[in-house]
Amino acid sequence: KSHWLRASDKCGSTVSCANFSKPAPTTKLFIDGKFIDSKSSEWLDIHNPATNEVISRVPKATQQEMLSAVNSCSQAYLSWSETSILTRQQIFLRYQQLIKDNIKELAKMITVEQGKTLADAEGDVFRGLQVVEHACSITSLMLGETLPSITKDMDTYTYRLPLGVCAGIAPFNFPAMIPLWMFPMGMVCGNTYLLKPSERVPGCTMLLAKMLQDAGAPDGTLNIIHGQHAAVNFICDHPAIRAISFVGSNQAGEYIYERGSKNGKRVQSNMGAKNHGVVMPDANKENTLNQLVGAAFGAAGQRCMALSTAVLVGEARSWLPELVERAKKLRVNAGDQPGADVGPLITPQAKERVNSLIQSGVEEGAKLLLDGRNVKVKGYESGNFVGPTILSNVTPDMKCYTEEIFGPVLVVLEAEDLDEAIKVVNQNPYGNGTAIFTTNGATARKYTHEVDVGQVGVNVPIPVPLPMFSFTGSRGSFRGDTNFYGKQGIQFYTQIKTVTSQWKAEDATLKSPAVTMPT
Ligand code: NAD
Repeated sequence: KSHWLRASDKCGSTVSCANFSKPAPTTKLFIDGKFIDSKSSEWLDIHNPATNEVISRVPKATQQEMLSAVNSCSQAYLSWSETSILTRQQIFLRYQQLIKDNIKELAKMITVEQGKTLADAEGDVFRGLQVVEHACSITSLMLGETLPSITKDMDTYTYRLPLGVCAGIAPFNFPAMIPLWMFPMGMVCGNTYLLKPSERVPGCTMLLAKMLQDAGAPDGTLNIIHGQHAAVNFICDHPAIRAISFVGSNQAGEYIYERGSKNGKRVQSNMGAKNHGVVMPDANKENTLNQLVGAAFGAAGQRCMALSTAVLVGEARSWLPELVERAKKLRVNAGDQPGADVGPLITPQAKERVNSLIQSGVEEGAKLLLDGRNVKVKGYESGNFVGPTILSNVTPDMKCYTEEIFGPVLVVLEAEDLDEAIKVVNQNPYGNGTAIFTTNGATARKYTHEVDVGQVGVNVPIPVPLPMFSFTGSRGSFRGDTNFYGKQGIQFYTQIKTVTSQWKAEDATLKSPAVTMPT
């Protein structure tokens, strides 16, 4: 373990940052296999969301540094793309073991930079680790196709080949899982990778990069730059970058999709959400209420798959008081404190925004059944805490419904029957995830069949697919046509070459030119 603490110091991240005396340690760039200090004159402070203390600083990489990073990717691609698939597989087999051995160190880093509870942070790492494990199946996943004898002496076969340099732009809310959706899948296919983590939580990515290097990834196969808009524009514009994976808000995602596509790149863009949990009166009440509360307020609601909207159908409307009682029992505290259920929001601005969306609901006529705006956390008075909040009597025209709140706020709508509930969900522009709670198979089947949302849970509140499937958010939550990880992830990071070959016996040689189209 101490090896990893030293390693993290070396790569410019520190697990125990809170103990560091001033000036705050700086986050390094990772270029051509070296963790280097940026020469930038522009730096951003990174805060612990539970205290708002500055724990580290991150540079906005200079143009020259970004160019060095992409050139390193281009140079490394020449040999990495020719490295045997078995060698790449072995590197990722070692990588998954290193991540497994260091889950707790990674989780500590996540909690100190992002704020979520330690147990939840371990889940963040674990769900990313599963993608790395899946990447280790690359020898089966990258198989091409063959069709022999399409005509006499002629066979057709396809190869699945890497694209070149690929890039990833990540959000703040899953500092391990989402970078791990990106570079392992891209690299195991034979691409090299340029990653820009969220400028608010870069530490975990730096630890992951160090572990990848220790697993044997050659210099230049992964490069990491930091920054905001200039770094994003650089990625969208640089001609060597063939594909961009983005996860984050709609504002950034739509912009990146358009700018990257215009420059001829493949872009997959996973964006915001408003996920509805439809509660039928025949559902298992105990189970459903617990699942709803967990999925609405876990990670302080800062999950793209948070169940942020409940639609209570028929008699289930009478369950509201019990829902409130359960939400009240959650403990709001700093993520590293024992027993914490709900940690802080990422920034004071995020807290401000969430509070104002709650207020807008009140002003537009919603009923504030539980108000978490004035929550006090002893010893963490300066943290960005908002307690569990429930707004009922919400209607689809209210701002608290039309906007993604991304905080610990559950908005509750009501419906007479299943058809009305389905209509509400389908009229919402987002299509990331949804869940239905019922004990009736026919009801569940009707819902899964008719609802126009990319990921559906039946008595499963957060139906994020395991990596042998793909993350299939749809409509307003996604731009692009090939999703993250699973078979679709392999498709995104590869291109097909189709070979048609003819090997004739000598006596079958053509006697004259064939000028008609072969049939
Ligand atoms: P964000 O869009 O603010 O930031 C994501 C990345 O884009 C960062 O690296 C940031 O530097 C960059 N960026 C931010 N604003 C930009 C702009 N205007 N132009 C260009 N680049 C910009 O997102 P966030 O706040 O870090 O993350 C929260 C959002 O991500 C939520 O909307 C959430 O639903 C979404 N999210 C979606 C998924 C999914 O799979 N659908 C998963 C996680 C998070």
